[in-house]
Amino acid sequence: MTDTLPRSAPILVTGASGYIASWLVRYLLEAGHTVHATVRDPNRSDSVKHLHRLAEGQPGSLRLFAADLLKAGSFDEAMQGCEIVMHTASPFVLDGFTDAHEALVRPAVEGTRNVLTAANRTASVRRVVLTSSVAALYGDNIDARDRPDHSLDETCWNTSSSVDHNPYQYSKVAAEREAWKLHDAQDRWDLVTINPGMVYGPALTTLSQSASIDTLISLGDGRLRTGVPDLMFGIVDVRDVARAHILAAFTPEARGRYLTVAGETTLLDAARILRQRFGNAYPFPRMTVPKAVVWAVGPLMGPVTRPFIRDNVGHPIRFDNRRSLTLGLQYHDIRQTLEEHFQQALDDGLVKKRG
Ligand code: NAP
Repeated sequence: MTDTLPRSAPILVTGASGYIASWLVRYLLEAGHTVHATVRDPNRSDSVKHLHRLAEGQPGSLRLFAADLLKAGSFDEAMQGCEIVMHTASPFVLDGFTDAHEALVRPAVEGTRNVLTAANRTASVRRVVLTSSVAALYGDNIDARDRPDHSLDETCWNTSSSVDHNPYQYSKVAAEREAWKLHDAQDRWDLVTINPGMVYGPALTTLSQSASIDTLISLGDGRLRTGVPDLMFGIVDVRDVARAHILAAFTPEARGRYLTVAGETTLLDAARILRQRFGNAYPFPRMTVPKAVVWAVGPLMGPVTRPFIRDNVGHPIRFDNRRSLTLGLQYHDIRQTLEEHFQQALDDGLVKKRG
């Protein structure tokens, strides 16, 4: 890994207790860095104890700071002396809220503004790595319909999402646009974005609310035993996403956006991979539910809307990850990612062991 920036300056990681950020913190500590880690409540031992454990015996050191995306000035203290800021904090929830603007869009956009205006006030900051998403590239699979081979790359922007339709996706594209706007208005720090697909793989914390974790569990706990919609998406290993952030931070010539996806899968193909490894005792879905049936029952079963079904089910999508390879990123095989993720769900008791 290219690592030409000085190791002595601390590195800020926002949302450090999260699924992706915990791996990031771990790799930074292993490499000997001082990590300034922000969480909303450093005294909430259940959400930060794994971070303290990660720091034990490592050459790097960890300092925890309290910071909230919605509090102006909240990140100033943690950013002092940092040259690199890694901004991962943002809510990733797909249901369980009534006001999508308050739950998703405001923390994502205002939070990004708060972190980056703190960077403007902090003379030491040279580079910001923002955890964006493929959701900033597209909202619905149908958005890839007119692309060659249905394949998206870093030139794509999500123009189909809104606070009423795919609000999580909207929160990500709005936050990334805000970040580029603030970046373009100054010339001291540069901005690199990491745009991952659905992230899977072993978690270092059992408390993450990250929606990607639950989708995989639902394939094996019986919720989807009757079948799955024909839904294609891009996936990437959580460890590769963390490595991508570090490469983006320490590769001086890194610029712009990096789509970070190892490969595409459908829900049914993911279930097939898991059945091959874990056997028939688990209620992995075996068939695709016809789109007409998904249309009829989908909205009754959860946060799936008819416009979502219309514009995603049965629409292929692909991701061109070649730009990320120029950073030196090597991807885990998606089979290994899915298997290790499910194994952890079994070991943690999130899915009952069978057979
Ligand atoms: P996660 O485990 O839920 O982590 C998100 C973190 O954001 C939490 O640790 C939380 O910190 C912090 N956060 C949420 N609201 C906050 C607020 N108001 N103030 C301060 N911190 C707040 O989810 P994740 O999957 O690791 O997601 C991390 C980033 O990756 C997000 O930007 C997400 O959009 C992006 N991403 C995720 C995926 C995926 O599939 N998982 C894919 C693409 C992009 P505390 O609760 O500890 O304060």
